Amino acid sequence: MSERAKIALRFNELRGEQVDYAIHRQERTFLPARERCPLCPTRPGEAPTEIPSAAFEIAVFDNRFPAFAPPRGAAEVVVYTDAHDASFGTLARARAEDLMWVWRHRYLELGARADVEYVLIFENRGVEVGVTLHHPHGQIYGYPFLPPVPALELAADERLGGCAPCALLREELAEGVRVVHENEAVVSYVPYAARWPYEAHAVLREHRASLLECTPAELRLLAQALQAIVRGYDALFAKPFPYVMVIHQAPTDGRARGHLHVEFYPPLRTAEKLKYLAGSEQGAGTFITDTLPEESAAALREAIAHAA
Ligand SMILES: [Zn+2]
Ligand SMILES: [Zn+2]
Ligand SMILES: [Zn+2]
Repeated sequence: MSERAKIALRFNELRGEQVDYAIHRQERTFLPARERCPLCPTRPGEAPTEIPSAAFEIAVFDNRFPAFAPPRGAAEVVVYTDAHDASFGTLARARAEDLMWVWRHRYLELGARADVEYVLIFENRGVEVGVTLHHPHGQIYGYPFLPPVPALELAADERLGGCAPCALLREELAEGVRVVHENEAVVSYVPYAARWPYEAHAVLREHRASLLECTPAELRLLAQALQAIVRGYDALFAKPFPYVMVIHQAPTDGRARGHLHVEFYPPLRTAEKLKYLAGSEQGAGTFITDTLPEESAAALREAIAHAA
């Protein structure tokens, strides 16, 4: 059976959403010893890894255990560096900036495909969010449909009668108490109604539908803002901070709408305690959170300032 034959989409009628069955993913590499890391460079005289070079800067390749594959979508891996023990936050500034250009290129190329309606660039960091490889990397899924979360954001545009991220950014700047970092191009804040205690959104000041509309200076400042958040997270509890980072941009279905922003969902409530999605979150869709966004924003703002 080919890899692609092992992927199936089923529509869950009760929830009105697609569920992706990627059965082969059961066999994927799970937390290998570092000398068997498939994302490290291939060293002379040693077994080949996924990357057939002795050194590299940023590497992109098709996921060997894809959740989506042609002719119904795409799944790629983006390795940030050949240094196994690095992280997004510790990348050199120029490398982080290069990564923005790589994301932009993959968004352009995958988005141009007829079978990709939405490009989601994301990073899962930490075993708490299910990471199976420690080497610093992110992923890109090309969905053959518009998934529910970006669809909800487009519905918010409709409800507010204009761009929702633009409107929310204006409110966050006016109130100021939840802003955790700013530069000339990007404002980062814990949203007014954050679901996760240390959730953060980094939003382009100008209305940019996607990375394709950003100036080179904006891409550089976006990299700076994202690294500031991640370094602040690591400083917050003085340990590597787990998170899910997602880049929300315009769908690539031909209808231009959306506003580029990056969302972080960290599962930690305190240094030791995880936020679990339980009865209310799973059964009712209502998040119960024990920290006010203003309080976590104050702590995160201080951590970002100290980590800079
Ligand atoms: Zn590695
Ligand atoms: Zn906007
Ligand atoms: Zn979003």
